[in-house]
Amino acid sequence: MSTFRWTAPLQYIGGRHQDGSSPQQLTVAEPASGDTLASFPAAGAQDVDSAVRAARGAFPEWAGAAPAERAGTLARLAAELRRAAEELAVTETRQAGKPIKLTREFDVPGSIDNVEFFAATARHLEGGAAGEYSPDHTSSVRREPIGVVGSIAPWNYPLQMAVWKILPAVAAGNTIVLKPSELTPLTSLLLAEAATRAGLPAGVVNIVTGPGPTTGEALVSHGDVDMVSFTGSTQAGLSVARAAAGKRLHLELGGKAPFLVFDDADLDAAVHGAVAGALINSGQDCTAATRAYIQRPLFEQFLSHTADLMASVRLGDPLDPSTDQGPLISTAHQRRVAGFVDRARSAGARILQGGAAPGGGLAHAPYYRPTLVTGVAQDSEIVQSEVFGPVLVVLPFDTDDEGIGLANDTPYGLAASAWTTDVYRAQRASRAIRAGCVWINDHIPIISEMPHGGYKASGYGKDMSAYSFDEYTNVKHVMSDITGTVRKDWHRTVFGDRPR
Ligand code: NAD
Repeated sequence: MSTFRWTAPLQYIGGRHQDGSSPQQLTVAEPASGDTLASFPAAGAQDVDSAVRAARGAFPEWAGAAPAERAGTLARLAAELRRAAEELAVTETRQAGKPIKLTREFDVPGSIDNVEFFAATARHLEGGAAGEYSPDHTSSVRREPIGVVGSIAPWNYPLQMAVWKILPAVAAGNTIVLKPSELTPLTSLLLAEAATRAGLPAGVVNIVTGPGPTTGEALVSHGDVDMVSFTGSTQAGLSVARAAAGKRLHLELGGKAPFLVFDDADLDAAVHGAVAGALINSGQDCTAATRAYIQRPLFEQFLSHTADLMASVRLGDPLDPSTDQGPLISTAHQRRVAGFVDRARSAGARILQGGAAPGGGLAHAPYYRPTLVTGVAQDSEIVQSEVFGPVLVVLPFDTDDEGIGLANDTPYGLAASAWTTDVYRAQRASRAIRAGCVWINDHIPIISEMPHGGYKASGYGKDMSAYSFDEYTNVKHVMSDITGTVRKDWHRTVFGDRPR
């Protein structure tokens, strides 16, 4: 591995890098090597306050800019990111342990596409009504930015999550303070630098780096933050919701996506889809396939073919283009994933593949083998809780209704897929499954034009697509009298009689 060292401080406030003022030192470690990539003071409450003040100061001018001006700046940001694509991919791979083929082919191009989408969509923002809903008044609807947004992002797709939080907010005329995960802040900082090079006024995008319970909480509870937008676990999301009480809130939380295979499905397609859908990003994906329910006639074949395909997945150095799966984000997370599998095994689960960390040359880093589990109860921990690792649980079902019932039977509702060659079954399943996204005969693809967001304990509100503007704008009704009369008919309900 070549050496890499991040030299700039980890805060980006008012258009420039700054050191944090907290006594707490932050270390960004490379999961694959354990090397320190960056080490700097975390943001304290004082830095969060400076960032919020920078965002507040930049708000009037940015909110007042013509949409075409905002769109032009964001288009230049997309061009800057395109120029920096390889640096972004390598930095993302180093800080998050993601295979380089994933960051080069998915994280980075997907993020740039999202920036381009919001650059274009910034010019389409408009209110939805103008008309005489009362015969004496003309009503119009204005969509206005909310103000200063405080955003919190997770470590699993650091650049993409930063883009999903920042772009709809600033395209709509808001300014933002983003706190990336303290484990993976580097690509968010590269994004902020690119925004400055693209001509985004200082203070429109600010980054504060530090732990959730200190830096994050200072941000979401700050009195001058108008809106909080959070992506992360359901548990942290609930703390954030409490700390942000009274503010506008958008929550993108955990998932436990079901993968429902009916007996007429193309078995080979389902097996390939399950392995890819379960193992993408080492299973550290909120929409990853985690629970495969297979209609009884296909069950045994699905298990054996999936186990065989999982065995072919190549673990290795994430910077090597032939590596399929890198390490998990940290040793603590590896222990957490292993804990779920070990407890399931102790409770009688059959582990058909994996179920342990690899040894040999990979023993030094937090790798975990692709793992296939069966023989567990629907109400067991490994079926109900988010493992967030390369672990797929497979269970059988008999009737269609039973399969759909099992798919809906967790607290989560972020994503799901149904596999069938029968169009009627596909439509019935897509209607009955309670999740923000249902794929038919695929699992994972996303697209900038379409919304992403949860039902149930997976949160509320939408990322991506024009729907995200509903989160980041206020809708204002302007109602103008068009009669010019002094004594209006309705005044008699307050004083006097009907005017003659
Ligand atoms: P996490 O909840 O531990 O942390 C997410 C972010 O919140 C981090 O920046 C963290 O520092 C911060 N944070 C934690 N506690 C906080 C607090 N009390 N106040 C303020 N900030 C706080 O999640 P993670 O481990 O970084 O990421 C994995 C989780 O994110 C999974 O549950 C996954 O499903 C979820 N996720 C959801 C989506 C989605 O779109 N729904 C996308 C990606 C990840």
